Amino acid sequence: MSIEYNLNNLKSKVSKSVTIVAVSKTKANNLIMKAYETGHRVFGENKIQEMISKYESLPKDIKWHMIGHLQRNKVKYIAPFISLIHGVDSIKLLNEINKHAIKHNRVIECLIQVNISNEATKYGVSINEIDELYNHSLTLQNVLIKGFMAMASFTNDESKINIEFKSIKVQFDRYTKINSNFNVLSIGMSGDYKIALKNGSTMVRIGSKIFGERMV
Ligand SMILES: *Cc1c(COP(=O)(O)O)cnc(C)c1O
Repeated sequence: MSIEYNLNNLKSKVSKSVTIVAVSKTKANNLIMKAYETGHRVFGENKIQEMISKYESLPKDIKWHMIGHLQRNKVKYIAPFISLIHGVDSIKLLNEINKHAIKHNRVIECLIQVNISNEATKYGVSINEIDELYNHSLTLQNVLIKGFMAMASFTNDESKINIEFKSIKVQFDRYTKINSNFNVLSIGMSGDYKIALKNGSTMVRIGSKIFGERMV
């Protein structure tokens, strides 16, 4: 199936109020352009170098989302143009983003990455660390926390995935009640986006269902 078909098919299944981040990591510029030409503008990458080279050669109205783990020493490279950083999981990283946002005279929107799967290998703060990171963000003028990003366990057990997504939805609801800036719940990938949508996802990050399987 073509990228155009995949994207339109996905859009027909997902409510218009849900943002689809087309995860283009490892995919060549000409494939990204196929999605772009259908009108799609939101793309996600997880490696800084790859994102920068794509940013430089592709149309400037693309909204680039950093969905991977972000090292502090790399923030400076994406600070001028990044649209949303999904993977904020420490005060030090948030401080660094703020510092470079100030240099570029902009406010950088971020999501707090929350570890809902308890897999030791995954990034993200635990649910009981959210408040500390969020409260710290309020002291920084040039970062704005828009919501949460989370990944479910890599499993076929749908009830487990459902429980994990529910655990972040509860936190999201708690925050949206007290904070009008909070409106992004980034949960759901190609394999589990339907479960994520049932749990109130407002942003899905879809790679292989749009671009096909990745070789790496
Ligand atoms: C690669 C990636 C995705 C997309 O994965 P697919 O299964 O191809 O849809 C989503 N989120 C993150 C953080 C990723 O690294």
